[in-house]
Parts: sequence; structure tokens; C-alpha cells
Amino acid sequence: MPTDFAATRALFDLPAGLCYLDGNSLGPLPRTARERMARAMDEWGRLLIGGWNQAGWMAQPGLLGDRIGRLIGAEPGHTVVGDTLSIKVYQALAAALALVPGRRIVLSDTGNFPSDLYMAEGLLRMLGDGHALRLVEPEAVGDAITEEVAVLLLTEVDYRTGRRHDMPALTRKAHEAGALAIWDLAHSAGAFPVDVTAGGADFAVGCTYKYLNGGPGAPAFIAVAPRHAEAAPAALSGWLGHRAPFAFDLSYVPGRGVERFRVGTPPVLAMAALDAALDIWDAIDMEDLRQRSLALADRFIKGVLDAVPELELVTPREAERRGSQVSFRHPEGYAAMQALIARGVVGDFRAPDIMRFGIAPLYIGEAEIDRAVDVLAEVMERRLWDNPAYRIRAPVT
Ligand SMILES: *Cc1c(COP(=O)(O)O)cnc(C)c1O
Repeated sequence: MPTDFAATRALFDLPAGLCYLDGNSLGPLPRTARERMARAMDEWGRLLIGGWNQAGWMAQPGLLGDRIGRLIGAEPGHTVVGDTLSIKVYQALAAALALVPGRRIVLSDTGNFPSDLYMAEGLLRMLGDGHALRLVEPEAVGDAITEEVAVLLLTEVDYRTGRRHDMPALTRKAHEAGALAIWDLAHSAGAFPVDVTAGGADFAVGCTYKYLNGGPGAPAFIAVAPRHAEAAPAALSGWLGHRAPFAFDLSYVPGRGVERFRVGTPPVLAMAALDAALDIWDAIDMEDLRQRSLALADRFIKGVLDAVPELELVTPREAERRGSQVSFRHPEGYAAMQALIARGVVGDFRAPDIMRFGIAPLYIGEAEIDRAVDVLAEVMERRLWDNPAYRIRAPVT
């Protein structure tokens, strides 16, 4: 049965009348999350330390990992949640580098999210010994995969432009050159069907608070290809990635497979909200979601280009080359976005001049798209952004 996107909107607690096009940054509150978190707090109150065993808290990272694994095409038993995405990038990169001894170049692109690049820089600096990060333009990645490269570290969908890399093709190229490929799925998981197994990814990482709607600061995930599961070393060798944490050995022994990518105590309350968010995904056909996302994005692009010619579309038009966000460039993008938000149309801004709009079909439909087009047209035509209050930069843009 096709997914009924008119019904999924009611699963979220969204302020009435709000047109929320920022689920690519922070997904909305699933209605059942309140009750699920209250239950976890109740377990805490009643069971105290017993909650780890009796309420199954300790097993949650793997159980939630598998629920996400299904959405990204990972083999069961090879995904865990925990920590933040920046940490998971670090762990994946450290493990991948160790699996390609003798090579020291990490290849990424200038469209990657800065935190991924910063984590790589920090790790490579610590490793020393000629390790270096090589950055090229996103279009030049394919040609830059040489036999010098140890690891290809890419985010599939560019957080600014929404441009999507060809995961299977670039991964194949990396493998042919003897390199490994790490894919960051921050803007892919929950945005469209992902198949890391078919795509050949060696490691995949991502966050759960964007399209997956896990809540602010929800734990990240990491998936390791089964072929590397027993060989990949865990750089952050915390006790919960140990084979037997409660043996309290003085020396680290890696846990089985992806379990070793756990680090410390799991965030039980945050995992409760994520668990509720993932219930929604159990009933979603990802192909239906993709078709709906493309149709809504096309409607938005056409509407904006017709009504506001001064905005420059920076998202590729071809369906296979984009994720589930639409971005426009404008020199007054920040102020224009504040004017939109003041009128109930919420997107966000990424420096230096990008206005971003996330398309999440679970709670966005034609009515929201048409309203966003109308309000954007009004803001630009009447220069409503030209207001000093809209130029004050908040800490989060
Ligand atoms: C959102 C995002 C992050 C954020 O990392 P956190 O550690 O969760 O703050 C990292 N990388 C990419 C590609 C992102 O889109």
C-alpha cells in the first residue's frame, strides 16, 4: 500500500500554521516521543541502576542501530548508535586508515561539512608521519582518486547546495585504486532510499536529529561493512566497546564487530526519543518518500524561479544529482531568511549566501510549498528583508 503522506503529518507535534522547511537541520517532535521519554524517566525513577538490565537500556545502541541500518541498507548487526556524528567520523576515519597501511592521504571535497574536515585534520595531525587531508572541488573528486589515496571521506549530500554524489561510482573508483570509502549520510538517512551495501561503502556514519527526527542532540550512528567488522580497530577504545566491559580487565580487547564502535555510557533518555521517531519510519516506503520529495522540490523550484528571478538556484535540477533540500543564493540571504521566519516559513541560512529549504514529505505537502513560494516572493519583491532587525546574526543561523 502506498504511504499516505496526508496521514503522516499528524504524527508530529508541529505548531499550527507553521511552514517548517528546516527538517534537514532539526526534525520536528514525533507525538509519541513525549510519552516514550516519560516512560524512560519513569524507568529511571523506579528501577534506578536496575534499568540497565531490566529495561534493556544497555542493548539499545545495537537495537536502534539495526532500525537505522534497515533505512540505509546496512546488514543487520552492523550498525550502532551513540556519541555525535563528529565522533563517529573520527572513529570511521581512524579505522579506515588502519586498514590501508602504507598510504597517508585522505581525500575529501570542499563541499564537505566543516566538522568532518576538522575531525580529519585533528586525527591526521596526531598521526603525523606524512598523513594529510587533500581537498578538491566536489566535481573533481573522481579524477583525484589516485593510488596515493588511503581513504575517500565524503558526505553524500552537500549541506549547502543539496548536490548528491554518486556513491556507487565513486566507491568503485576508490576500491579500484586500493582505497576505502567512508560515506557521511547526515543529509541522506531519512531523506531518500540509501543502500550502503549495494553502494559498497566501507563505513557509513550519520546523525539522527535531521531527517530522522530523533531530537536535538540525538545520538549518531556508524555502520561498518561486514567484511571489515572483525578487522577494523576502534580508535576510541572506551569500556563499552570492550569485549567484556564488566570483566573490568586492565587492558582493552575489542568487542565483536560494530560493538567495538561503542565508546561510553549510552544516552538513555535521548535514545528513548529516537526510538519513538524510528517507529514512524517502520511504516514508510522509502521509494514513495523519494518520489514525493522530488515532486515537492520540483514544485518549489519552479514556483520560486517563476516568481523570484533574482534568486539563483544552486541545487542541481536532475533528480539523481540532488538530495531532499533546495538552496538558493542571494547576497541578502541571511536577512531574507529572518524575514521568512518572522512570517512563519522556516528555513535556514548557510554562510556566505545560501538560503536552505529542507523538503520532508512526512509533514510537508503542496500547501506548505505554495505558501513558502508566496511568502518568499513577497519578501523579495517588497524588499521586506531590508530591516536592521533581520541583520542581527544569531549564534545559530
Ligand atoms: C549535521 C552534520 C554534522 C554535525 O555533527 P555533530 O557532531 O552531530 O554536531 C556533521 N557532519 C555532517 C556532514 C553534517 O551534516
